[in-house]
Amino acid sequence: METKQQNRILNVWVNLCRFILGIVFVFSGFAKAVDPLGSKYKIQDYVDAFGLSSLMPDFFPLFLSIFLATFEFSMGGFLLFGIRKKTSTVLVFLMMLFMTPLTLYLAIKNPVSDCGCFGDLFILTNWQTFGKNIVLLIAAISCFIWRDRIIRLISEKSQWLIALYLISFGLILSLYCYRNLPILDFLPYKIGTNIPQSMSIPPNSKKSVYENIFILEKGGVKKEFSLENYPDSTWHFIDSRNVLKEKGYEPPIHDFSMNEMETGKDITDSVLSSKGYTFFLVAHRMEEADDNDIDLINEIYDYCVENGYGFYCLTSSLDSQIEQWKAKTGAEYPFCLTDDVTLKTIIRSNPGLILIKDGVILNKWHHSNLPDEYILSGKLDKLTIGRQKPVDDVRTIDWVVFWFAVPLFFVMGIDVLVIKRLDKKKKGRYLINPLINNKMRKNIVAGNWKMNKNLAEGLALAKELNEVLANEKPNCDVIIGTPFIHLASVATAIDTNKIGVAAQNCADKESGAYTGEVSAAMVASTGAKYVILGHSERRAYYHETLETLKDKVKLALANDLTPIFCIGEVLAEREAEKQNEVVLSQLAGSLYDLSAEDFSKIILAYEPVWAIGTGKTATAQQAQEIHAYIRSTIVEKYGKEVAENTSILYGGSCKASNAKELFANPDVDGGLIGGASLKVADFKGIIDAFNA
Ligand code: PEP
Repeated sequence: METKQQNRILNVWVNLCRFILGIVFVFSGFAKAVDPLGSKYKIQDYVDAFGLSSLMPDFFPLFLSIFLATFEFSMGGFLLFGIRKKTSTVLVFLMMLFMTPLTLYLAIKNPVSDCGCFGDLFILTNWQTFGKNIVLLIAAISCFIWRDRIIRLISEKSQWLIALYLISFGLILSLYCYRNLPILDFLPYKIGTNIPQSMSIPPNSKKSVYENIFILEKGGVKKEFSLENYPDSTWHFIDSRNVLKEKGYEPPIHDFSMNEMETGKDITDSVLSSKGYTFFLVAHRMEEADDNDIDLINEIYDYCVENGYGFYCLTSSLDSQIEQWKAKTGAEYPFCLTDDVTLKTIIRSNPGLILIKDGVILNKWHHSNLPDEYILSGKLDKLTIGRQKPVDDVRTIDWVVFWFAVPLFFVMGIDVLVIKRLDKKKKGRYLINPLINNKMRKNIVAGNWKMNKNLAEGLALAKELNEVLANEKPNCDVIIGTPFIHLASVATAIDTNKIGVAAQNCADKESGAYTGEVSAAMVASTGAKYVILGHSERRAYYHETLETLKDKVKLALANDLTPIFCIGEVLAEREAEKQNEVVLSQLAGSLYDLSAEDFSKIILAYEPVWAIGTGKTATAQQAQEIHAYIRSTIVEKYGKEVAENTSILYGGSCKASNAKELFANPDVDGGLIGGASLKVADFKGIIDAFNA
């Protein structure tokens, strides 16, 4: 049973989950957007590890990388702002449902050493990633189930603007960093890095420990041994391997080398230790390199020859592909072979250019921004590009945050100051703390006398209730639904400001030759302010249909009567677990074509038919579940605000003894009471459930 205390705890929990998910998704989307090529390489690793390369089109890894960056960034933002709750929670839940078992597989099989969730910004092991995903999956499930509890930080009216902005920001950042270099470089070859220094191992650093494992065979049985338990000579040697037992110190750059293409000679040390400027044209795969800027590259090479600077093209391509590149571009510069992963790590551009001096990286260029003759207008030591490019990551992050936050705060400001003020109904609903359960809707206890009591008995009952409540201030609205013949007398005999009077039916026609019927206008003329419509007894015994009820509701509203509209399933439907379907079809069939303004005048009463007059009550949990479902359908149809303002009463063997437990549910806003409304003491006991 969900009490108000539990309800509050649940609200806090869901919003905590939403912030955790939101922050992680924004962070991981941002890390991917900053380095879309890095994510592309990682996705390619996955595709290769799962043997899917032949099935995937070439553009797929890059497309997925940019899509994922934009998706994660915007979904995280949606969760943080509490906008498009259904879309964001469903998509995030589905993503975590897919990723969690996948990362468990990766942790067990280890086909790719790090998951790449946060690009190269923050590297987790596969087991750490799985642990993180378990936490996120729990958070995603919580947000998905209780999404209506997520606090919205921006009005529904303005949410499209924020949604559009978040998607555009993620997409534009990704494309910018793809068409240029990443705005933040998390890799070991950052501008300012001294390559030889970053390759050196300090003298006292911890060394990696390896162990020899021997595979031996005896009598058809193969077994692995180490030197410590090496067996006698009856075992025959089959194979051996070297296994890393303890990882030692690994310098930030541990995989950089240059081997001349023609001779195979390792010239790493001589190039890195040579004084002066050297350009590296880095093209990890010549066959995939962009050849739009070949003239500019050749000009840069000529410039180096003229000025005595080094120029090498570093690649991992085969000789034949290098020859093709030479033939296509007229390249005369020397080629060196370097490891493919190293080249992809050096620069996120194929080809890309880097300038080093005395082994220190001074500058990096994407192939679309190469320095041209106007920039290379003299000796490098006289030019700005001959000095190390100033890089300040903190400043870059400040700028990104600034440009991200300023438009958002602007929209939020407009939302709070203009839209909120214009729409008085929304007063106090944004940026305040809805965790405090101060509902806007009314609590109501309504009696339904059905076909009981003659005029005198009815009047006496109404007067007695009036007297009992005369000196009280109930914490709910009180209504009594009397037979038609009592309406006028009861309405004049009691204080209708304290006790509202309801009819139990009205005609589906305005007026005319409908013998025996009582119109909504006639009901209103008695002083009654409410009318019970769609009660299950009227649906069952008088064959009231969705259509006739629709007409009755419209006539009631047109005559300023508030309909108390009953819905509920029969036992067979509950047993077949069709209750949600049933109530939805009753709502949709009779009410959901009303305007939001008209719908917001309706009081709903959920009455499971199997509980009416039978002594069987729905449990508090059953009542809460279906009331929450009913409210969620109103959210979908009319939006959160209308839903939050709609009172939904429970009806079906409600008594003083069970009312408190039922009404404690966050979505149960009171009761429609049959049998127990015929005695003042019983009815008052139910009203008092709200005083507790
Ligand atoms: C009703 O008829 O609306 C009703 C809820 O009846 P009871 O309380 O007697 O089950």
